[in-house]
Amino acid sequence: MTSPDGELLGAHVSTAGGVGNAPSRGDEIGATAIQIFTKTPNQWREPRLASEEIERFKLARRRSGVPAVVTHDSYLTNLASPDDKLRAKSVASFKAELHRCRSLGVEFVVTHPGNHMGDRDTGLERNAAAYVECLEAEEGPMVLLETTAGTGTALGSTFEELAEMRQLIPHSLRERVGFCADTCHLYSAGYDLVNNWDGVWQEWDDELGLSNLHCLHLNDSMYPFDSRRDRHELIGEGTLGPEPFEKVRQDDRFRDIIKVIETPKGDDPVATDRRMLGRLRGYK
Ligand SMILES: [Zn+2]
Ligand SMILES: [Zn+2]
Repeated sequence: MTSPDGELLGAHVSTAGGVGNAPSRGDEIGATAIQIFTKTPNQWREPRLASEEIERFKLARRRSGVPAVVTHDSYLTNLASPDDKLRAKSVASFKAELHRCRSLGVEFVVTHPGNHMGDRDTGLERNAAAYVECLEAEEGPMVLLETTAGTGTALGSTFEELAEMRQLIPHSLRERVGFCADTCHLYSAGYDLVNNWDGVWQEWDDELGLSNLHCLHLNDSMYPFDSRRDRHELIGEGTLGPEPFEKVRQDDRFRDIIKVIETPKGDDPVATDRRMLGRLRGYK
């Protein structure tokens, strides 16, 4: 039951009970794309997926109407950390994520660039070097660097920084590095999607290339423009309002890009996600 126009639109869904349960949760909300965690994102524990669980996931995915799957990596990793121990732990964790993705046959891992904790330039270099180490060690998925809201010392809140990060990856591996744009984070980081839609995407294309954009996180924001805060709101009900989401749905440049919502799920996650996806589909 792929959508007639091949549109890849969905939500972050739970993997409670195992990753094999995720595709049917996508079906439940009428999604054609899902994002999942392959582990508990706020714990360091790195589970190995049992081969039965991997097969269960692949079968469920084939049977479902969800062709597009991306994973989101752990919240704890900091590949830019100046602390050697923490960085080594983060590298091990990210390698494990890439490994799980490859086993599952998932094509994309979305990741937040790290926190530099003091010096931006050296942090950026450490971050890029860590991606290189992980990509060299683990074949398989593409890594999508997500635009961040720029809280604290977070890297990746400007297009320049993201471009620099990718530039630091050697040519042979750079093909495996792309981007994920989060509408809430962009707005919080000072990219005005409400008043300057075309300008922002022109700047994106100049700095990062629209062809390197593989995933969009469609989230409204609880905080004002340029707030550097990261709190998602329901589509059309936050400071961005409906217009940017109407534009993203109407703009041909984004037609084939995987779109995932990470909006609050309320008391009834299935009903809320269905409602949000219905709202987005209405913006035609
Ligand atoms: Zn996001
Ligand atoms: Zn966020």
